Amino acid sequence: ASTPAGASAWVTVDAAAIRDNVAELVRRAAPAHVLAVVKADAYGHGLVTAARAALVGGATWLGVAQLDEALALRTAGVTAPLLTWIYPPHADIAGAADAGIDVTVGSAWNLEAVVAVARERGRPVRVQAKVDTGLGRGGVLTDWSEFTAALARAVAEGAVELTGTWSHFAWADAPQHPTVRAQQDRFVEAVAELERAGLDPGLRHLANSAATLTNPDAHFDLVRPGLAVYGLSPVPDLGSPQDFGLREAMRVTARLTQVKQARAGQGVSYGHEYTTDRDTVLGLVPMGYADGIPRHAGNAGPVQVRGRRHTVAGRVCMDQFMIDLGPGTDAAPGDEVTVLGRGADGEPTAQDWAEAAGTINYEVVTRMAPRLPRVVV
Ligand code: PLP
Repeated sequence: ASTPAGASAWVTVDAAAIRDNVAELVRRAAPAHVLAVVKADAYGHGLVTAARAALVGGATWLGVAQLDEALALRTAGVTAPLLTWIYPPHADIAGAADAGIDVTVGSAWNLEAVVAVARERGRPVRVQAKVDTGLGRGGVLTDWSEFTAALARAVAEGAVELTGTWSHFAWADAPQHPTVRAQQDRFVEAVAELERAGLDPGLRHLANSAATLTNPDAHFDLVRPGLAVYGLSPVPDLGSPQDFGLREAMRVTARLTQVKQARAGQGVSYGHEYTTDRDTVLGLVPMGYADGIPRHAGNAGPVQVRGRRHTVAGRVCMDQFMIDLGPGTDAAPGDEVTVLGRGADGEPTAQDWAEAAGTINYEVVTRMAPRLPRVVV
């Protein structure tokens, strides 16, 4: 069933699209392998659904930001190799190690914490080293040599098993930007330093979706796409999902809950930022910013009803927004409103909403609220 009975609005997740997108990424990345990034509830698509579909599509690794997301995958019975990279001091590293989750070490304290856990367990912890090659975010930035030495001691002691070495781009969505080449060069140098210290760097990885699609030089042993897994373009100026052989996996649908006549000059929604310029028909869409509809998309966000495009009229409220259906509309309460879907089918897309709201497609899909039922097709 693609329309849950009684729901005002829902998210449909096309698991086959996720599978096929990953298969396309596997094809493009070969001989490098694919780690599918399924953090943030798989960018709003549903953690376990997306993880399983990605593995069917040929991903050999999964990646999540937070330790708890990784543990949730293990609880759901997902046994694939799994990398996590954000955890605070006193996190349950022992639990992660017991669950066979690879823990990123990107600072001296990370490494010390992992070594302490390994000593207590009497068994090595699987870790991946993260070097900050220029993003200026997570990872070892200025003291890679000291870190390498500490890592070599931890490996020699049998406290850690180094399964990978990785970094993340700042400007992957601008492939010609000089920092891209500089970060790749710095990454190669950092890996060489590990090797000079007698360490096997394990799997080397650097590429997110944009680099996976546009920069084969950055593929190394493993690529780490997130957005492209869900069929969205990380570089909308360079190509649509279809241009890259991808298709959007998320569809968001609502049902019109009210359709009513309004006279010319009627102010609509809080602050009356929209006023009807003729006698017309207004439709009420039962989704608002609490559902993930960007409030910044007032008077701008696109929807489709009975094959016709309409724009949000006035401000987006917490649970609803209005559309001006036009005087001759045949729309009726209960009609499906496509909020976002597949561009190739003429529906408004996450990218259209991003442009309407002054944000990025990542944020549009990721913020679709947990209260919206997910229907997997
Ligand atoms: N790797 C890391 C460390 C990330 O934080 C992310 C997401 O931002 C990704 C990979 C995937 O990035 P993208 O969704 O741009 O492919």
